[in-house]
Amino acid sequence: MKFDVVGFDWKGKVAFQSHAHTDHFASGKIVYATKPTIFLSHLRNSTLYSQVEYGKRFYIGDYKAKLYPSGHMLGSAGIKIWLDEGTLYYTGDIKLERLRTAERAKIPKADFLIIEATFGVPMYSFPEPRKVEKEIIWYVEDQLDRGKIPIIQANPYGKAQEIIAILNAHGYTPRVDREILKVSRVYSKFGIGLRTDNEGEVIVSSSKGILVSGFGKVKLSNHADFWELIRIVEKVDPEKVFTIFGHAQSFAKILNGFGYESRSISRGEEIRRWI
Ligand SMILES: [Zn+2]
Repeated sequence: MKFDVVGFDWKGKVAFQSHAHTDHFASGKIVYATKPTIFLSHLRNSTLYSQVEYGKRFYIGDYKAKLYPSGHMLGSAGIKIWLDEGTLYYTGDIKLERLRTAERAKIPKADFLIIEATFGVPMYSFPEPRKVEKEIIWYVEDQLDRGKIPIIQANPYGKAQEIIAILNAHGYTPRVDREILKVSRVYSKFGIGLRTDNEGEVIVSSSKGILVSGFGKVKLSNHADFWELIRIVEKVDPEKVFTIFGHAQSFAKILNGFGYESRSISRGEEIRRWI
């Protein structure tokens, strides 16, 4: 069994794909994913997926498993598996604070936790999403007042749709590029209506403009910041924590300092010997 690219039993043929970003694409004989993840992934791959729903029990081999929304983008999920040794929860990419275009994250309790650590050091402390929304609207209005075209750059898979939803909520119908439009159509299919217009006075682009990202100028992230990660660990209340991606090593050290037995793991690493 492998989770995205997190090894659990690397020789296994069963995989779980948490969401539709390419660095999390999984392969295997059976790849479990949610319906929106399958639709979004099929814009870029032809993997044969097995569809699973949030909160519905299914079996990975002999082990019971369930998916939980992870709040990162449409369809994103974490997985909990009931192993002989105890329960294991893998977050995938996760965002605790509510975004407009992603299902609200649900965090289960588990004995063992694998948590992403993209922003796993305290220097990453983001304002609340609603505050950043105001910043985005200020930028747009300021540019328009100056007679300029506001151009906002965002990842076409998830972040751009969040920006469109924010703009729509404030009365703007943006112009977007083809890639963003393609993905937005899938969002609309799943009930997240997004209005765009070829004549729009604001542009949302996947390649240029003011960058909206945890790493960019405008800090609207679809990843948990450091303090959200800590809150997730507290909610899961695990015996052991495995950190992965980004600042995995530093985050594991910090968690050890907070009294959680923790270690960082890499993509494809076997972890069963440690649980
Ligand atoms: Zn992601």
